[in-house]
Amino acid sequence: MSADCIFCKIVRGEIPCKKVYEDEDIFAFHDINPMAPVHFMVIPKQHVDSLDAVDAAHAPMLGKLFAKLGELARGQGLTDGFRTIVNTGRVGRQEVYHLHVHVVGGSEPLGSMLPRGN
Ligand code: 5GP
Ligand code: ZN
Repeated sequence: MSADCIFCKIVRGEIPCKKVYEDEDIFAFHDINPMAPVHFMVIPKQHVDSLDAVDAAHAPMLGKLFAKLGELARGQGLTDGFRTIVNTGRVGRQEVYHLHVHVVGGSEPLGSMLPRGN
């Protein structure tokens, strides 16, 4: 846990959130500024800065996190697919340095993954 990390504060209940799921290792909650009809994030409870800070010791936790995504997405009504996004570092335009997997979707197909030329 990191004292001043906003996602650690959400995990500890110090900042309110719309919780989707919680178990001993992972926590999921809706994004405060959704970019699609459904937009939530799944994070490890353990503070990890980013995907760039992940090593083999994190593999069981990450396996568990990814194994849960489909079930969580279906639970939020995403029964016909969804997109996962993990922004990493400066080039990836990561804003919050606590590893998180965005899950976005809705009833219609999303826009293209990235605008061409960027
Ligand atoms: P990033 O750009 O780091 O991948 O995404 C960070 C995400 O966290 C953004 O989509 C932003 O809307 C979301 N976010 C930032 N602060 C809060 C907060 O206090 N609560 C919630 N629920 N989401 C937040
Ligand atoms: Zn954190």
